[in-house]
Amino acid sequence: STIHDVLILGGGAAGIATAASLLRRRPGLDIAIVEPAERHYYQPGWTLVGGGAFDRRRTERPMAAVMPRGVRWVRAAAAAFEPEHNAVVLEDGTRLGYRVLVVAPGLKLDWDRVEGLRATLGRNGVTSNYLFDLAPYTWQLVQGLERGRALFSQPSMPIKCAGAPQKAMYLSCSEWERRGVLRDIEVHFHTAAAVLFGVKEFVPPLMRTVERYGARLDLSSNLKAVDGPGRRAWFEEKDAEGKARLVERGFDMLHVCPPQVAPDFVRSSPLADAAGWVEVDNETLQHPRYGNIFGLGDACSAPNAKTAAAVRKQAPVVAENVLATLDGRSPRALYDGYGSCPLTVERGKVVLAEFGYGGKLLPTFPLDPVVPRRSAWWLKAKLLPTLYFDVMLKGREWLAAPRLLPHPPQPHEVAAAADF
Ligand code: FAD
Repeated sequence: STIHDVLILGGGAAGIATAASLLRRRPGLDIAIVEPAERHYYQPGWTLVGGGAFDRRRTERPMAAVMPRGVRWVRAAAAAFEPEHNAVVLEDGTRLGYRVLVVAPGLKLDWDRVEGLRATLGRNGVTSNYLFDLAPYTWQLVQGLERGRALFSQPSMPIKCAGAPQKAMYLSCSEWERRGVLRDIEVHFHTAAAVLFGVKEFVPPLMRTVERYGARLDLSSNLKAVDGPGRRAWFEEKDAEGKARLVERGFDMLHVCPPQVAPDFVRSSPLADAAGWVEVDNETLQHPRYGNIFGLGDACSAPNAKTAAAVRKQAPVVAENVLATLDGRSPRALYDGYGSCPLTVERGKVVLAEFGYGGKLLPTFPLDPVVPRRSAWWLKAKLLPTLYFDVMLKGREWLAAPRLLPHPPQPHEVAAAADF
Protein backbone atom coordinates (compact mmCIF):
# COMPACT_ATOMS: atom_id res chain seq x y z
CA SER A 1 0.00 0.00 0.00
CA THR A 2 1.00 3.66 -0.42
CA ILE A 3 2.90 5.28 2.43
CA HIS A 4 2.80 9.06 2.67
CA ASP A 5 5.22 11.13 4.71
CA VAL A 6 2.24 13.05 6.07
CA LEU A 7 -1.37 11.90 5.89
CA ILE A 8 -4.03 14.46 6.88
CA LEU A 9 -7.65 13.51 7.61
CA GLY A 10 -10.03 16.36 6.79
CA GLY A 11 -9.76 19.23 4.32
CA GLY A 12 -11.52 21.78 6.52
CA ALA A 13 -9.95 24.80 8.15
CA ALA A 14 -7.47 22.69 10.12
CA GLY A 15 -6.42 20.16 7.47
CA ILE A 16 -5.85 22.73 4.73
CA ALA A 17 -4.05 25.23 7.00
CA THR A 18 -1.75 22.51 8.32
CA ALA A 19 -0.87 21.23 4.84
CA ALA A 20 -0.14 24.79 3.67
CA SER A 21 2.02 25.51 6.73
CA LEU A 22 3.96 22.28 6.17
CA LEU A 23 4.61 23.10 2.52
CA ARG A 24 5.80 26.64 3.40
CA ARG A 25 8.35 25.09 5.71
CA ARG A 26 9.30 22.18 3.47
CA PRO A 27 8.31 22.56 -0.19
CA GLY A 28 7.91 19.26 -1.97
CA LEU A 29 6.96 17.31 1.17
CA ASP A 30 4.82 14.25 0.33
CA ILE A 31 1.36 15.05 1.80
CA ALA A 32 -2.02 13.44 1.15
CA ILE A 33 -5.33 14.85 2.41
CA VAL A 34 -8.30 12.51 2.83
CA GLU A 35 -11.48 14.55 2.30
CA PRO A 36 -14.80 13.31 0.87
CA ALA A 37 -16.51 16.71 0.37
CA GLU A 38 -16.46 18.63 -2.92
CA ARG A 39 -17.05 21.97 -1.17
CA HIS A 40 -15.11 23.79 1.55
CA TYR A 41 -16.99 26.13 3.89
CA TYR A 42 -16.04 29.28 5.77
CA GLN A 43 -18.44 28.54 8.62
CA PRO A 44 -17.79 31.71 10.69
CA GLY A 45 -19.58 33.60 7.88
CA TRP A 46 -22.86 31.77 8.54
CA THR A 47 -23.67 33.93 11.59
CA LEU A 48 -23.61 36.95 9.30
CA VAL A 49 -25.65 35.12 6.64
CA GLY A 50 -28.31 34.41 9.27
CA GLY A 51 -28.15 38.09 10.24
CA GLY A 52 -28.66 39.28 6.68
CA ALA A 53 -25.20 40.83 6.52
CA PHE A 54 -23.33 38.39 4.26
CA ASP A 55 -23.99 36.52 1.04
CA ARG A 56 -23.76 32.78 1.68
CA ARG A 57 -21.99 32.23 -1.66
CA ARG A 58 -18.98 33.96 -0.13
CA THR A 59 -18.73 31.18 2.47
CA GLU A 60 -18.35 28.35 -0.05
CA ARG A 61 -15.48 27.38 -2.36
CA PRO A 62 -14.76 24.27 -4.41
CA MET A 63 -12.53 21.95 -2.37
CA ALA A 64 -10.20 21.78 -5.36
CA ALA A 65 -9.64 25.54 -5.08
CA VAL A 66 -8.42 25.43 -1.47
CA MET A 67 -6.22 22.32 -1.77
CA PRO A 68 -2.61 23.53 -1.61
CA ARG A 69 -0.67 22.85 -4.78
CA GLY A 70 1.43 19.72 -4.51
CA VAL A 71 -0.89 17.94 -2.07
CA ARG A 72 -2.50 14.67 -3.13
CA TRP A 73 -6.26 14.86 -2.53
CA VAL A 74 -7.82 11.49 -1.74
CA ARG A 75 -11.56 11.94 -2.37
CA ALA A 76 -12.86 9.55 0.26
CA ALA A 77 -13.87 9.37 3.89
CA ALA A 78 -11.62 7.84 6.50
CA ALA A 79 -13.36 5.05 8.42
CA ALA A 80 -10.90 3.49 10.87
CA PHE A 81 -7.45 3.79 12.43
CA GLU A 82 -4.70 1.19 12.69
CA PRO A 83 -2.12 3.14 14.68
CA GLU A 84 -0.08 0.00 15.39
CA HIS A 85 0.45 -0.39 11.63
CA ASN A 86 0.70 3.33 10.83
CA ALA A 87 -2.33 3.00 8.60
CA VAL A 88 -5.78 4.48 8.07
CA VAL A 89 -8.63 2.52 6.49
CA LEU A 90 -10.94 4.35 4.09
CA GLU A 91 -14.66 3.67 3.69
CA ASP A 92 -14.07 1.48 0.63
CA GLY A 93 -11.55 -0.62 2.55
CA THR A 94 -8.43 0.93 1.01
CA ARG A 95 -5.49 1.25 3.42
CA LEU A 96 -3.27 4.31 3.43
CA GLY A 97 0.06 4.25 5.25
CA TYR A 98 1.86 7.22 6.81
CA ARG A 99 4.98 8.24 8.66
CA VAL A 100 3.06 10.97 10.48
CA LEU A 101 -0.74 11.28 10.74
CA VAL A 102 -2.69 14.52 11.34
CA VAL A 103 -6.32 14.01 12.41
CA ALA A 104 -8.63 16.97 11.65
CA PRO A 105 -12.11 15.78 10.56
CA GLY A 106 -14.00 18.40 12.58
CA LEU A 107 -17.00 17.43 14.70
CA LYS A 108 -20.41 15.90 14.18
CA LEU A 109 -23.62 17.92 14.53
CA ASP A 110 -25.85 15.51 16.42
CA TRP A 111 -29.35 16.58 15.29
CA ASP A 112 -30.89 13.27 16.34
CA ARG A 113 -30.24 13.95 20.01
CA VAL A 114 -33.21 16.31 19.91
CA GLU A 115 -36.38 14.34 19.25
CA GLY A 116 -38.34 15.52 16.25
CA LEU A 117 -35.76 18.10 15.22
CA ARG A 118 -34.41 16.64 12.00
CA ALA A 119 -37.91 16.22 10.56
CA THR A 120 -38.71 19.91 10.91
CA LEU A 121 -35.38 21.60 10.16
CA GLY A 122 -35.88 24.33 7.59
CA ARG A 123 -39.68 24.31 8.05
CA ASN A 124 -42.31 25.44 10.56
CA GLY A 125 -40.10 28.29 11.74
CA VAL A 126 -37.26 25.97 12.83
CA THR A 127 -33.80 27.03 11.65
CA SER A 128 -30.07 26.89 12.39
CA ASN A 129 -27.07 28.97 11.35
CA TYR A 130 -25.02 25.78 11.80
CA LEU A 131 -25.95 24.67 8.28
CA PHE A 132 -25.00 26.40 5.02
CA ASP A 133 -28.44 25.60 3.60
CA LEU A 134 -30.36 26.94 6.58
CA ALA A 135 -28.58 30.19 7.51
CA PRO A 136 -30.57 32.10 4.83
CA TYR A 137 -33.79 30.67 6.33
CA THR A 138 -32.88 32.31 9.67
CA TRP A 139 -32.79 35.70 7.96
CA GLN A 140 -36.02 34.94 6.13
CA LEU A 141 -37.75 34.14 9.43
CA VAL A 142 -36.35 37.23 11.12
CA GLN A 143 -37.65 39.42 8.30
CA GLY A 144 -41.06 37.79 8.40
CA LEU A 145 -41.66 38.03 12.16
CA GLU A 146 -43.80 40.93 13.42
CA ARG A 147 -44.95 39.59 16.76
CA GLY A 148 -44.95 36.36 18.74
CA ARG A 149 -42.23 34.32 20.38
CA ALA A 150 -38.69 33.53 19.24
CA LEU A 151 -36.56 30.90 20.97
CA PHE A 152 -32.79 30.46 20.67
CA SER A 153 -31.20 27.29 22.04
CA GLN A 154 -27.68 26.33 23.07
CA PRO A 155 -26.71 22.70 23.96
CA SER A 156 -24.07 21.55 26.45
CA MET A 157 -20.41 22.31 25.75
CA PRO A 158 -18.22 21.80 23.90
CA ILE A 159 -19.65 23.27 20.71
CA LYS A 160 -17.91 25.03 17.85
CA CYS A 161 -17.99 28.77 18.29
CA ALA A 162 -19.56 28.89 21.75
CA GLY A 163 -20.86 32.40 21.04
CA ALA A 164 -22.74 31.53 17.83
CA PRO A 165 -26.12 30.68 19.45
CA GLN A 166 -26.33 34.06 21.20
CA LYS A 167 -24.93 35.88 18.16
CA ALA A 168 -27.94 34.56 16.22
CA MET A 169 -30.22 36.04 18.87
CA TYR A 170 -28.50 39.44 19.00
CA LEU A 171 -28.51 39.93 15.22
CA SER A 172 -32.20 38.93 15.07
CA CYS A 173 -33.07 41.34 17.89
CA SER A 174 -31.00 44.07 16.26
CA GLU A 175 -33.10 43.76 13.11
CA TRP A 176 -36.40 43.67 15.08
CA GLU A 177 -35.27 46.72 17.01
CA ARG A 178 -34.46 48.54 13.76
CA ARG A 179 -37.93 47.70 12.39
CA GLY A 180 -39.61 48.73 15.62
CA VAL A 181 -41.21 45.32 16.28
CA LEU A 182 -38.93 44.07 19.04
CA ARG A 183 -41.37 45.05 21.80
CA ASP A 184 -43.97 42.74 20.27
CA ILE A 185 -41.64 39.76 20.17
CA GLU A 186 -40.90 37.69 23.25
CA VAL A 187 -37.31 36.46 22.98
CA HIS A 188 -35.88 33.58 25.04
CA PHE A 189 -32.32 32.30 25.19
CA HIS A 190 -32.32 28.68 26.44
CA THR A 191 -28.82 27.51 27.26
CA ALA A 192 -27.76 24.24 28.82
CA ALA A 193 -24.92 26.14 30.51
CA ALA A 194 -25.22 27.77 33.92
CA VAL A 195 -23.64 31.01 32.65
CA LEU A 196 -24.11 33.16 29.55
CA PHE A 197 -20.47 32.92 28.45
CA GLY A 198 -17.53 30.88 29.74
CA VAL A 199 -15.02 33.74 30.13
CA LYS A 200 -16.25 35.97 32.95
CA GLU A 201 -14.88 39.28 31.62
CA PHE A 202 -17.29 39.09 28.68
CA VAL A 203 -20.42 38.39 30.71
CA PRO A 204 -21.21 42.03 31.73
CA PRO A 205 -21.28 43.46 28.16
CA LEU A 206 -23.32 40.45 27.02
CA MET A 207 -25.76 40.84 29.94
CA ARG A 208 -26.21 44.50 28.97
CA THR A 209 -27.01 43.34 25.44
CA VAL A 210 -29.57 40.81 26.69
CA GLU A 211 -31.21 43.53 28.80
CA ARG A 212 -31.21 46.07 26.00
CA TYR A 213 -33.17 43.65 23.80
CA GLY A 214 -35.43 42.60 26.67
CA ALA A 215 -34.52 38.95 26.07
CA ARG A 216 -35.19 36.37 28.78
CA LEU A 217 -32.38 34.13 29.91
CA ASP A 218 -33.23 30.50 30.65
CA LEU A 219 -30.01 29.09 32.10
CA SER A 220 -29.46 25.32 32.59
CA SER A 221 -32.25 24.72 30.09
CA ASN A 222 -31.53 22.09 27.44
CA LEU A 223 -33.60 21.55 24.28
CA LYS A 224 -34.85 17.94 24.22
CA ALA A 225 -37.69 17.73 21.69
CA VAL A 226 -39.44 19.75 19.01
CA ASP A 227 -42.88 19.45 17.44
CA GLY A 228 -42.51 21.53 14.28
CA PRO A 229 -46.08 21.53 12.95
CA GLY A 230 -47.40 22.12 16.49
CA ARG A 231 -44.74 24.82 17.03
CA ARG A 232 -43.81 23.57 20.47
CA ALA A 233 -40.44 22.83 22.05
CA TRP A 234 -39.49 21.02 25.26
CA PHE A 235 -36.56 21.93 27.46
CA GLU A 236 -35.06 19.97 30.32
CA GLU A 237 -34.49 22.23 33.30
CA LYS A 238 -33.04 21.43 36.70
CA ASP A 239 -34.46 22.84 39.91
CA ALA A 240 -32.36 23.90 42.91
CA GLU A 241 -32.12 20.28 44.13
CA GLY A 242 -30.92 19.15 40.71
CA LYS A 243 -34.23 17.45 39.89
CA ALA A 244 -34.99 17.52 36.15
CA ARG A 245 -38.33 18.56 34.71
CA LEU A 246 -39.55 19.22 31.17
CA VAL A 247 -40.71 22.73 30.32
CA GLU A 248 -42.94 23.22 27.28
CA ARG A 249 -42.81 26.41 25.26
CA GLY A 250 -44.60 27.40 22.08
CA PHE A 251 -42.75 29.37 19.41
CA ASP A 252 -43.12 31.23 16.15
CA MET A 253 -39.42 30.96 15.41
CA LEU A 254 -36.85 28.55 16.86
CA HIS A 255 -33.12 28.89 16.18
CA VAL A 256 -31.35 25.69 17.20
CA CYS A 257 -27.69 25.11 17.90
CA PRO A 258 -27.42 21.32 17.70
CA PRO A 259 -25.63 19.07 20.22
CA GLN A 260 -22.07 18.37 19.05
CA VAL A 261 -19.92 15.28 19.42
CA ALA A 262 -16.74 13.73 18.02
CA PRO A 263 -17.11 12.02 14.61
CA ASP A 264 -18.17 8.36 15.05
CA PHE A 265 -15.02 6.89 13.49
CA VAL A 266 -12.89 8.89 15.93
CA ARG A 267 -15.04 8.18 18.97
CA SER A 268 -14.85 4.41 18.38
CA SER A 269 -11.08 4.42 17.74
CA PRO A 270 -8.04 3.84 19.96
CA LEU A 271 -7.15 7.51 19.42
CA ALA A 272 -10.15 8.77 21.41
CA ASP A 273 -10.19 10.12 24.95
CA ALA A 274 -13.02 9.23 27.34
CA ALA A 275 -15.30 11.84 25.73
CA GLY A 276 -14.58 10.60 22.21
CA TRP A 277 -12.29 13.39 20.96
CA VAL A 278 -8.83 12.79 19.42
CA GLU A 279 -6.65 12.82 22.50
CA VAL A 280 -3.78 15.31 22.32
CA ASP A 281 -1.30 17.04 24.57
CA ASN A 282 -2.80 20.53 25.12
CA GLU A 283 0.44 22.27 24.17
CA THR A 284 2.20 20.14 21.53
CA LEU A 285 -1.06 18.69 20.09
CA GLN A 286 0.73 15.33 19.88
CA HIS A 287 -1.16 12.15 20.74
CA PRO A 288 -0.05 10.90 24.19
CA ARG A 289 0.08 7.22 23.14
CA TYR A 290 1.07 7.44 19.48
CA GLY A 291 4.01 9.80 18.98
CA ASN A 292 3.54 10.08 15.21
CA ILE A 293 -0.09 11.21 15.44
CA PHE A 294 -1.25 14.80 15.91
CA GLY A 295 -4.74 16.26 16.24
CA LEU A 296 -6.12 19.77 15.86
CA GLY A 297 -9.27 21.70 15.09
CA ASP A 298 -12.74 20.85 16.38
CA ALA A 299 -12.00 17.10 16.60
CA CYS A 300 -9.20 17.32 19.14
CA SER A 301 -9.45 17.06 22.92
CA ALA A 302 -7.63 20.32 23.78
CA PRO A 303 -9.96 22.45 25.95
CA ASN A 304 -9.70 25.61 23.84
CA ALA A 305 -12.69 27.35 22.25
CA LYS A 306 -13.40 25.31 19.11
CA THR A 307 -12.96 28.03 16.47
CA ALA A 308 -11.23 28.73 13.17
CA ALA A 309 -9.30 31.35 15.16
CA ALA A 310 -7.87 28.53 17.28
CA VAL A 311 -6.93 26.61 14.14
CA ARG A 312 -4.99 29.65 12.92
CA LYS A 313 -2.65 29.22 15.90
CA GLN A 314 -2.74 25.43 16.06
CA ALA A 315 -1.79 24.71 12.45
CA PRO A 316 1.71 26.24 12.64
CA VAL A 317 2.31 24.37 15.92
CA VAL A 318 1.33 21.07 14.34
CA ALA A 319 3.35 21.80 11.18
CA GLU A 320 6.46 22.51 13.24
CA ASN A 321 5.98 19.40 15.41
CA VAL A 322 5.19 17.11 12.48
CA LEU A 323 8.47 18.06 10.80
CA ALA A 324 10.37 17.51 14.06
CA THR A 325 8.81 14.04 14.29
CA LEU A 326 9.73 13.21 10.69
CA ASP A 327 13.30 14.28 11.51
CA GLY A 328 13.45 12.15 14.65
CA ARG A 329 13.41 15.14 17.01
CA SER A 330 10.89 15.84 19.76
CA PRO A 331 8.13 18.43 19.32
CA ARG A 332 9.01 21.89 20.61
CA ALA A 333 6.26 24.16 19.28
CA LEU A 334 3.60 24.97 21.88
CA TYR A 335 -0.01 26.12 21.58
CA ASP A 336 -1.33 28.51 24.26
CA GLY A 337 -5.03 27.68 23.86
CA TYR A 338 -5.82 30.83 21.85
CA GLY A 339 -9.33 31.01 20.45
CA SER A 340 -11.55 33.88 19.46
CA CYS A 341 -15.23 34.62 19.22
CA PRO A 342 -16.34 37.89 17.60
CA LEU A 343 -19.60 38.46 19.48
CA THR A 344 -21.95 40.36 17.17
CA VAL A 345 -23.99 42.21 19.80
CA GLU A 346 -25.79 44.27 17.13
CA ARG A 347 -25.55 44.83 13.41
CA GLY A 348 -22.40 46.96 13.09
CA LYS A 349 -20.84 46.23 16.51
CA VAL A 350 -18.76 43.36 17.85
CA VAL A 351 -17.18 42.44 21.19
CA LEU A 352 -13.98 40.75 20.07
CA ALA A 353 -13.47 37.99 22.63
CA GLU A 354 -9.97 36.50 22.39
CA PHE A 355 -8.72 34.17 25.10
CA GLY A 356 -6.53 31.15 25.83
CA TYR A 357 -6.42 28.26 28.28
CA GLY A 358 -7.98 29.01 31.65
CA GLY A 359 -9.91 31.97 30.20
CA LYS A 360 -6.75 34.11 30.01
CA LEU A 361 -7.46 37.19 27.87
CA LEU A 362 -5.23 37.30 24.78
CA PRO A 363 -6.22 40.45 22.86
CA THR A 364 -4.49 41.00 19.51
CA PHE A 365 -5.06 44.76 19.67
CA PRO A 366 -4.19 47.17 22.52
CA LEU A 367 -7.85 48.03 23.16
CA ASP A 368 -10.23 47.19 26.01
CA PRO A 369 -11.51 43.82 24.73
CA VAL A 370 -14.92 43.92 26.44
CA VAL A 371 -16.13 47.07 24.64
CA PRO A 372 -18.42 46.59 21.59
CA ARG A 373 -16.71 48.23 18.60
CA ARG A 374 -17.44 49.17 15.00
CA SER A 375 -13.83 48.39 14.11
CA ALA A 376 -14.33 44.82 15.33
CA TRP A 377 -17.48 44.46 13.17
CA TRP A 378 -15.44 45.60 10.20
CA LEU A 379 -12.77 43.06 11.13
CA LYS A 380 -15.38 40.28 11.35
CA ALA A 381 -17.33 41.16 8.20
CA LYS A 382 -14.54 42.36 5.91
CA LEU A 383 -11.09 41.34 7.06
CA LEU A 384 -11.54 37.88 8.63
CA PRO A 385 -12.93 36.15 5.50
CA THR A 386 -9.86 37.35 3.57
CA LEU A 387 -7.59 36.41 6.43
CA TYR A 388 -9.12 32.94 6.39
CA PHE A 389 -8.87 32.18 2.68
CA ASP A 390 -5.80 34.15 1.66
CA VAL A 391 -3.65 33.99 4.77
CA MET A 392 -4.52 31.03 6.98
CA LEU A 393 -5.39 28.52 4.25
CA LYS A 394 -2.24 29.61 2.37
CA GLY A 395 0.02 28.83 5.31
CA ARG A 396 0.95 32.48 5.87
CA GLU A 397 1.49 32.85 9.58
CA TRP A 398 0.88 36.56 10.24
CA LEU A 399 0.65 37.03 14.01
CA ALA A 400 0.47 33.25 14.35
CA ALA A 401 4.13 32.16 14.57
CA PRO A 402 4.31 29.35 17.11
CA ARG A 403 6.15 29.64 20.40
CA LEU A 404 9.18 27.32 20.30
CA LEU A 405 11.00 25.71 23.17
CA PRO A 406 14.77 26.06 22.77
CA HIS A 407 16.36 23.15 20.88
CA PRO A 408 17.72 20.51 23.22
CA PRO A 409 21.51 20.91 23.25
CA GLN A 410 23.22 19.09 20.35
CA PRO A 411 26.06 16.63 21.22
CA HIS A 412 28.82 19.03 20.07
CA GLU A 413 27.38 21.81 22.25
CA VAL A 414 27.41 19.55 25.29
CA ALA A 415 31.03 18.67 24.57
CA ALA A 416 31.96 22.36 24.19
CA ALA A 417 30.30 23.21 27.50
CA ALA A 418 32.27 20.43 29.23
CA ASP A 419 35.54 21.79 27.73
CA PHE A 420 34.76 25.23 29.12
P1 FAD B 1 -14.14 21.79 9.64
O1 FAD B 1 -13.76 23.12 9.11
O2 FAD B 1 -15.57 21.56 9.98
O3 FAD B 1 -13.64 20.70 8.59
C1 FAD B 1 -13.72 19.31 8.80
C2 FAD B 1 -13.52 18.62 7.46
O4 FAD B 1 -13.32 17.22 7.67
C3 FAD B 1 -14.70 18.78 6.52
O5 FAD B 1 -14.27 19.26 5.26
C4 FAD B 1 -15.27 17.38 6.43
O6 FAD B 1 -15.84 17.08 5.16
C5 FAD B 1 -14.04 16.51 6.68
N1 FAD B 1 -14.37 15.16 7.17
C6 FAD B 1 -15.39 14.79 7.97
N2 FAD B 1 -15.39 13.47 8.16
C7 FAD B 1 -14.31 12.98 7.50
C8 FAD B 1 -13.77 11.68 7.32
N3 FAD B 1 -14.36 10.60 7.86
N4 FAD B 1 -12.66 11.54 6.58
C9 FAD B 1 -12.07 12.63 6.01
N5 FAD B 1 -12.55 13.88 6.15
C10 FAD B 1 -13.65 14.06 6.88
N6 FAD B 1 -14.86 30.09 14.25
C11 FAD B 1 -14.25 31.31 14.47
O7 FAD B 1 -13.04 31.37 14.55
N7 FAD B 1 -14.97 32.46 14.58
C12 FAD B 1 -16.31 32.47 14.43
O8 FAD B 1 -16.93 33.53 14.51
C13 FAD B 1 -16.99 31.23 14.18
N8 FAD B 1 -18.32 31.20 14.02
C14 FAD B 1 -18.94 30.02 13.67
C15 FAD B 1 -20.31 30.04 13.43
C16 FAD B 1 -20.97 28.88 13.05
C17 FAD B 1 -22.44 28.94 12.77
C18 FAD B 1 -20.23 27.67 12.89
C19 FAD B 1 -20.92 26.41 12.43
C20 FAD B 1 -18.87 27.65 13.16
C21 FAD B 1 -18.20 28.82 13.56
N9 FAD B 1 -16.83 28.83 13.85
C22 FAD B 1 -16.20 30.04 14.10
C23 FAD B 1 -16.09 27.57 14.04
C24 FAD B 1 -15.20 27.15 12.87
O9 FAD B 1 -15.93 27.12 11.67
C25 FAD B 1 -14.60 25.78 13.18
O10 FAD B 1 -14.02 25.79 14.45
C26 FAD B 1 -13.56 25.37 12.16
O11 FAD B 1 -14.14 25.23 10.89
C27 FAD B 1 -12.85 24.06 12.59
O12 FAD B 1 -12.04 23.56 11.58
P2 FAD B 1 -11.87 21.98 11.37
O13 FAD B 1 -10.97 21.82 10.20
O14 FAD B 1 -11.53 21.33 12.64
O15 FAD B 1 -13.34 21.48 10.98
